[in-house]
Formats: sequence, C-alpha cells, structure tokens
Amino acid sequence: MIPIKLVGMGAEKKTPAIDTGLADPRSPAASALAYLQPGAISLAALPPLSLYIHYPWCVRKCPYCDFNSHEAKGELPEQAYLDAVRLDLEQSLPLIWGRKIHTVFIGGGTPSLMSAAGLDLLLSMVRTLLPLEIDAEISMEANPGTFEAEKFKSYRASGVNRLSIGIQSFNADHLKALGRIHDDGEARRAVEIAQANFDNFNLDLMYALPTQTLAQAEADLATALSFAPPHLSLYHLTMEPNTVFAKYPPVLPDDDASADMQDMIAATMARHGYQHYEVSAFAQPGQRARHNLNYWQFGDYLGIGAGAHSKLSFPHRIIRQARFKQPASYM
Ligand code: SF4
Repeated sequence: MIPIKLVGMGAEKKTPAIDTGLADPRSPAASALAYLQPGAISLAALPPLSLYIHYPWCVRKCPYCDFNSHEAKGELPEQAYLDAVRLDLEQSLPLIWGRKIHTVFIGGGTPSLMSAAGLDLLLSMVRTLLPLEIDAEISMEANPGTFEAEKFKSYRASGVNRLSIGIQSFNADHLKALGRIHDDGEARRAVEIAQANFDNFNLDLMYALPTQTLAQAEADLATALSFAPPHLSLYHLTMEPNTVFAKYPPVLPDDDASADMQDMIAATMARHGYQHYEVSAFAQPGQRARHNLNYWQFGDYLGIGAGAHSKLSFPHRIIRQARFKQPASYM
C-alpha cells in the first residue's frame, strides 16, 4: 500500500516524528528530511514534476462553478497575493530540491485579471527560484471580458507560451444563461487576440447548456473550429453541489439529446483531424497539453496559491498537500 499523507501549509506538526537533527523540527527543511527516511515503497526514479499556481479571483462567480474562485470585491490585493505565493514557493523548495520543472500552469479563477507587471513578477520569481526545462510549457488561463491586446502581448513576452481561453459558448443567449461576463462579440475578439500573440492556445467550450439544441451545439463547435485552435476542450455542463445551479436547476437537454451532442462532437473533431486523447480534450497532432498529461500519467505536481493541491514523490513515499482555500486565510 502506498502511504499518502495529507498536510496543509503551516501544518508541519503532522510530519513524521523523526529526529532530523535540525534545530526546528517543524521547518520545511525538517519536513523534507523526514520524507526522505525509509518507507513502505521504493521508487526506482521520480516522475516528471510540474508546477501549478492558483489565482483565486473572478469578476463574478458563475452559477455552475465549483472551483476555488471568489468574486472580486473592490481592488484585488495583487502584490500581497504575489508575496504570499513567493513565500509559499520558497517554503516548498526543500520538497523538490534539484528537480527540474517540465510544465507550469497558472489557473484559477481568472489569472488574466492579473496586471502585465504582476504576471511578469510571478514568472520572474518562478525562474529565479526553480530550474525550468528549456522548452517548458507555460500555460495560463484567460477569460474573455478581461482581454486587452497589449496585456496579452506582454504576457507572451513574459514567457507564457500557451493560452487557455474560457469561451464556453459563442451564443449570446447561452453565455447569459451561464452567467458569463462576456458576450459573443467579446468571445470572438478574445480568440483573435490569442491568435495574434500565441502559436499555441486552447479554447474551452461547454455543451448540453440550458435549452441548447443539437444545431446550436453544432454551430458553437463550427465557430470554434473556424479559428483552427491547436487544442479544444469540450466539457459537458454538470450540476455540481453547492452551486447556484444546484439550488435553482436550469432546464437542460435530456440525456438522449446530450448523448447526441457528444456523438456529434466526437465525429466532427475526428473529421477535422483532432486526436481525442483525454475525456474532454482534443488536440491537433503534437499539440496535446503536456501539463494535463502529467496529471493523467501520475506525474508529480507542486501546487502553490490558495486551495492548490500537490502530489510529490520521494524515494520511499508519496505525499499530498492542500493549501488553505480562502484567499485571506492563505495570505
Ligand atoms: S470564470 Fe471560471 S473560475 Fe471564474 S467563476 Fe466562472 S467558471 Fe468559475
């Protein structure tokens, strides 16, 4: 059996009671030494390591969303949050000494609410503190409604080389039903800005939306494909507990109608030469998301930022961590 330990940031007192010889037995360095002690498993080699950074705010909370995202009230404490993320990363370093980072993913929430200077600071910090692979995939999530051409040009210049855009739909009525802050025009404009600045980008679309017909789902997919995105993620809308939609369910297509949409998507994507390599992900040849694949292939990931999760391997154990979810508690 693989021993899995769940600890939270600042909860180092839960680490194994092993005498590491260090003055402060609760320090990150002492935790790392404790994790190196003999254990129940023996790994011949450690898996690839990715870095996930969570940005926890959105302009508004969407009614279907159960992610760790919080409605932005007033000015966001960008600098204070980046300071906390830096401290988080510094404290985590003893757990990953000497290991290279293959991919970085800045997710949320809506990381594109970050200023160009803030994102630049974040990536400079990552580069200063961690050895990145020379061709590391550096992805960032962005939402239409936060797109300004200059800002995205700057994100690219700072090192982001893959953009993932939360389009969800190109249909104005469906966007409204989903409580999104953008309309169909902004959705198209966002893709155009992404295309102008990034070779590699992903579009997120959703289907089985409130009152959506098969023809409307087809039209959404056709619009997305007209931009020839290297990667498309196509998600079935689901009703998650503790969301507004769970409390006030919208009228949804029935199971047969949803299944027809799913079949249409599989056939259309295959016809356009996309590989269906993961439950909801389709990629042009050579464009699979390396960060995503690392999760599916049981790779390691260090998650920093509010609510982020980590899975880290040591020669004789695997540990899992979760950071505090509330931005204020985390900071
Ligand atoms: S923009 Fe995305 S993360 Fe933010 S509330 Fe909506 S679905 Fe959730």
